[in-house]
Amino acid sequence: ASSLFGNVEAFAGDPILSLNIAFQGDPRTEKVNLTIGIYMDGNGKVPVLPSVKAAAEKLGFGVRSYIPMEGLADYRRLVQELVFGKGSKLLAEKRVATMQSLGGTGALSIAADFLAKHTPGRPVYVSDPTWDNHHGLFQRAGFETKTYPYWDGATRTLRFDDMMKTLEEAPAGSIVIVQPVCHNPTGVDLSPAQQDALSDLLIAKQHIPVFDMAYQGFADGIDEDASFVRRYAERASSFLVANSFSKNFSLYGERVGGLSVVCATADEADRVLGQLKLAVRRSYSNPPTTGAQIVATVLGDPALRALWEAEVAEMRVRMKAMREALAAEVKKLSNEIDVGFITQQRGMFSYTGLSKAQVVQMRDTDGVYLVESGRMCVAGLTENNVAAVAKSLVAARGA
Ligand code: PLP
Repeated sequence: ASSLFGNVEAFAGDPILSLNIAFQGDPRTEKVNLTIGIYMDGNGKVPVLPSVKAAAEKLGFGVRSYIPMEGLADYRRLVQELVFGKGSKLLAEKRVATMQSLGGTGALSIAADFLAKHTPGRPVYVSDPTWDNHHGLFQRAGFETKTYPYWDGATRTLRFDDMMKTLEEAPAGSIVIVQPVCHNPTGVDLSPAQQDALSDLLIAKQHIPVFDMAYQGFADGIDEDASFVRRYAERASSFLVANSFSKNFSLYGERVGGLSVVCATADEADRVLGQLKLAVRRSYSNPPTTGAQIVATVLGDPALRALWEAEVAEMRVRMKAMREALAAEVKKLSNEIDVGFITQQRGMFSYTGLSKAQVVQMRDTDGVYLVESGRMCVAGLTENNVAAVAKSLVAARGA
């Protein structure tokens, strides 16, 4: 007789996480990891931010009782202020239901389940390409996912007109996942004028945007990077925002994020919060304490907050400097490669346009690891490895 779980299929694994394991096992000392979306400092290390360390020390290790299903009240208020701005009309009108979530992924997961229950049967549009879990999370919740054009491989730019056309032709009331800043995997963002044109379309078609903001502070600044969401908030009555502190607090493993559901009225927001709490109760009951306490302590203390803002600026400036350095190193070796895209793209990633074969060549020959789609995490570049990466890239391009 066959065993109970005999037919369980093997899991192929997550391609990016698998590459990371392969990297760890690579014995070459000159290897460079440009795969996973983790910020590393100039020494190639995942930093502990001094603001976070100071907050953790201030908090010590106290009682660990349950916290509410929706999370810590201070944390939720500070999340709202960070996303929507302190003077936001929406917040004054109490129209936002915000949940503490298990990172950005947890926020999207609650969002997908909430939408599946309350706005079922609508198509979910994601950018082509996108962070793969967008498909997975919304499919798991029961949605069919479709794509809107985003990246033009030939020009390494945005297919804005095609994107607009697809969303114009989509059924009214479709769910549209939008990365408002530092698009993963391409690094290509909409200009403010394009953001406004997209906003007009989303509102006219009554689409439901789910803004997924995983990199706030990594493009132009903490407030600047929220401007798409904030301008949208001035005009629209109902939408969702998932935000994550994994990257900008370097708190990946603590799982800290938020889901904010913007509603038409305070009463609606109250009822929505109730349903979100119920969903959490039936899933993991209530969120963990430590990460949210740390983030709330940093954001709520003027001195720690100023320190954190400086730390985010340092990460942002370092990634920009590494883009410049890579472009300069490539230019030294070849005039054939137009390096403009490296410095124009924003945030943690650069979509290089390298083919899978070229990526494999860089890995096998030089120990330089990129994702097979050609995505490079620029936060893995350092003064010490950037010349070698440029050399490997130029060799792979055969230019
Ligand atoms: N959304 C996007 C676009 C991301 O790139 C990521 C992380 O890589 C996430 C969400 C999830 O972030 P978290 O680690 O906080 O779950």
